[in-house]
Amino acid sequence: MTDVSYELTRCAVCSSASSEELLSADDARIEIEQLWEFHQKRLRADIPPDHLMDRVAFSQRTPLRLVRCDDCGLVYRNPMERASEVAEIYENEGPDEPVLRALHDTQRSAYDAQAARLTEIFGRRGTGVEVGSYVGAFLAAARAAGWQFAGVDVNAQTNAFTRALGFQVDDGSIESLDPARRVDVVAIWNCLDQLADPASAVRAARAHLASGGMLAVRVPNGACYAAFRPLLQSPLAGIAREWLAQNNLLGFPYRYGFTPTALERLLVRNGMRVEQVVGDVLVPIADRWTKRWAALEERLVKRVIAAGARIARGDKPLAPWFELYARVE
Ligand SMILES: [Zn+2]
Repeated sequence: MTDVSYELTRCAVCSSASSEELLSADDARIEIEQLWEFHQKRLRADIPPDHLMDRVAFSQRTPLRLVRCDDCGLVYRNPMERASEVAEIYENEGPDEPVLRALHDTQRSAYDAQAARLTEIFGRRGTGVEVGSYVGAFLAAARAAGWQFAGVDVNAQTNAFTRALGFQVDDGSIESLDPARRVDVVAIWNCLDQLADPASAVRAARAHLASGGMLAVRVPNGACYAAFRPLLQSPLAGIAREWLAQNNLLGFPYRYGFTPTALERLLVRNGMRVEQVVGDVLVPIADRWTKRWAALEERLVKRVIAAGARIARGDKPLAPWFELYARVE
């Protein structure tokens, strides 16, 4: 983790080099401190360090600097960690089995709702590949909902856990799957934003879709971060901090903050048509290590934010996360 190498980059959606700074290195440090403070108040003091994963300890490093593309609105790191750094992060790390089990159980109910939404929007059940299947929570939800989903993930250790639950999972990326393989749906939940080359992943996903197939994506909303981030120094700081922290946007532990508009642009270029955009909140993260008042607070706050996420139009700046469903033309 010491020798991180960075490179200057352009917008991954529209190749524009024109952007404005959203977050400086100093801002990033302050946001991370605020994030720690936020969770320290809410977590039990005896929480084992490995349960901090995805809460205050993330796979992605804190950004050096974040910008927003002037042309399409994509939020991205610039400079950005080199692609080789990203591969290393995800291939190497892996918590122990009890932690993976806990993550699986915590994520499962949210994915039940997501599988139901996918069935409704796609119009029927079918076959699918989930990119970044991680601990298999969506694969389990999809199976229970009558889908035949398989996974693909770069982390062999996590994949072994997921295979032990009875799922087919390939080690690797969507780019490395058998080119002849066709499915009805490619789902990329909470993952496109962390890839080294999301445009390449979208291209590969399109190539695996059968006629009438659908790409389903869930990502953190760059438009929400761009709207709330400037409020952190305003009289509305408390609300902005809660809005971002409850949805894992504080400190922006992602490489890309897609907006509905920017993502649509990428998908249209790959021969897909957007059918639906759904604004949402982060999946529940409270577990046995969360203080009781904090778990209650999370439920209440997320209910309020979810209501805001649903009414927002266009780039849905009130929605911390969004799902986008696009069909092959
Ligand atoms: Zn752009």
